[in-house]
Amino acid sequence: MSAPSPQEFRELVRSQTDIVGLIAESIALQPRHGGRQYVGLCCFHDDRNPSLNVYPDRQTFRCWSCQTGGDVFTFVMQHDAVTFPEALEILAKRANIPIPQKLGGRPEGEEINKARILEALQWAEREFHVALVSAPEAEPARRYLLDRGFSLESIKKYQLGFHPDNWNWLEQRANGKFSPKVLLDSKLIDQKNGRTFDNYVNRVLFPIHNERGQAVSFGGRILPGSDHPAKYWNGPESPVFHKSRTLYALDFARDEIRQSKSVVVVEGYTDCLACHMAGMTNVVATLGTALTDQHVTALKRFARQVVLVFDGDEAGQRAASKSVERFLAQDVDLRILTLPEGQDPADYLKAHSVDDLRKLVDSAPEAWNFQYRYLKTEFGIETVDGRQRVLEGMVNLFAEVPSLQGSLRESVLVANVAHRLSLSEASVQAALKDARDSKRNFGRRMNDAVEPRPFTEGAARIIHRRLNKNERVEYDLLESLLAAPQHFHYYEDVLFEHPFRNTVLAHIWEQCVAECMENDVLTFSGLMSRVQDPDLTNLLVWIDEQATAKGIAEKIDKSVEQTPTDGGDCPPYLVRALENLKWRSEEESHQVTAARLSQTEEDAAIEEENALLMQAAAFHQQRDIRNATG
Ligand SMILES: [Zn+2]
Repeated sequence: MSAPSPQEFRELVRSQTDIVGLIAESIALQPRHGGRQYVGLCCFHDDRNPSLNVYPDRQTFRCWSCQTGGDVFTFVMQHDAVTFPEALEILAKRANIPIPQKLGGRPEGEEINKARILEALQWAEREFHVALVSAPEAEPARRYLLDRGFSLESIKKYQLGFHPDNWNWLEQRANGKFSPKVLLDSKLIDQKNGRTFDNYVNRVLFPIHNERGQAVSFGGRILPGSDHPAKYWNGPESPVFHKSRTLYALDFARDEIRQSKSVVVVEGYTDCLACHMAGMTNVVATLGTALTDQHVTALKRFARQVVLVFDGDEAGQRAASKSVERFLAQDVDLRILTLPEGQDPADYLKAHSVDDLRKLVDSAPEAWNFQYRYLKTEFGIETVDGRQRVLEGMVNLFAEVPSLQGSLRESVLVANVAHRLSLSEASVQAALKDARDSKRNFGRRMNDAVEPRPFTEGAARIIHRRLNKNERVEYDLLESLLAAPQHFHYYEDVLFEHPFRNTVLAHIWEQCVAECMENDVLTFSGLMSRVQDPDLTNLLVWIDEQATAKGIAEKIDKSVEQTPTDGGDCPPYLVRALENLKWRSEEESHQVTAARLSQTEEDAAIEEENALLMQAAAFHQQRDIRNATG
């Protein structure tokens, strides 16, 4: 059998994945309408009443509250924050389908290479761990960890490891198992001047896992007494490890984050594990980078509240302030906790109980409050200039949060700032308006620079039913088409002459045409497997859901029965829908002719004018000649 085409492969993976089973791995689903539909608490927004609908017959899902929807691929993309090829890979593995080498335009071999890299990292994790718990030369490492409060049990649970003081220890062990290329690609070893050497040498190792619990890199800490300048060292970025996306211990913390709806973010893995071992398990750590937008986006899927913990020193305060500015736009309940006396969480837990730490976390000030205090210490509010700067800082912050505009919360915050700075609410409100205006202008400039997701806005407009009359005609046609795709050919003739104009709907139509050309038949699932953009997938599910709710397929069927001649004729229901499109074109062409007619009137006037001017010029010329000769 020849290798499947990318689309055949997608279709295969889709057909081998049951959406109910897949989603039920993440949320509890209840059957409705005798199993024709399932509902559950939506994992994409803070859901109190089950809003997520799963349709087994269509293999789609949609949340009627937050409007997230799609198929099995979209679900994994949104849920695991991965790209389409990654979602495809995850589901293929889940269904035990071997992945063809060449997929979705990726360079040949990359899939295999990634899988090999993960295998190598998993193997290395074991090797490091066994060395830590059993090798004689790991004795200082064991003592260091025991001194820091790690038990053997926790060393096992978090798979801590040790790399002995030997620059080729791992590479020698890999001999016959993994090629130097795989070891280099997984960043387990490195090379310089043509010679290879192990990374992580003579360090205690903290394996860094992806969300699926697979080792993707290691964080290494030197032992006390080592003269190495870098106390902590994280593995470099690799095809499977991206610092800006990965959070340490998310695999261990996820359940508790989901339960408590709150996540605590600390700055290092030792602090993070100190919290876990003390019994506070909704804690993750960044990996030598500040928290990024991608981190927050990932955390928002589980948590309503994000508590950032910073050291109480000056650098920590400044880092905290920067984070507040960046993350308020993300619209999470952001809290900032700075620990007393410049302590980090591990220090704090040495002298206090975990309940004390919990109390601090629970009472962490909201980001606004933190920022106000920070600005106040920075600029002071005794002078007019200082107050001005604090005001600017605060309104710029408020302007970052679109959902705040016009809310009750906004008036409370404005009143609060006005009171604290002894200003009138009106002047704070005016400053906020200025800040929003300048942010909007800036945003417009920035938007030109970043590559937009092409369909986001258009698809959202359709889902929120903000369509004009012309677009409505096109939308209705697509609804009928998806409800009864077997009538595709009737649409083809009409749309050839009267094409769609809404770019999003036109794109969907193009995909229908392409699907039919390739497979001779249009089906909903075929169309779904062709479309990869999550916005379009979501829109397709929406259209399909609406069509089902309106019973359009039944209406078309009934209309077929009523057709006097059997077969071959377009069902009257569709005739009417298609007539609307033709009629639109006719109406428009009439308007064009009318415009042309009025234009001709104008043109005539201009011609007349030109003629008059020419006449005048001729007259003047004649006159001049007469004068000269006369
Ligand atoms: Zn939702």
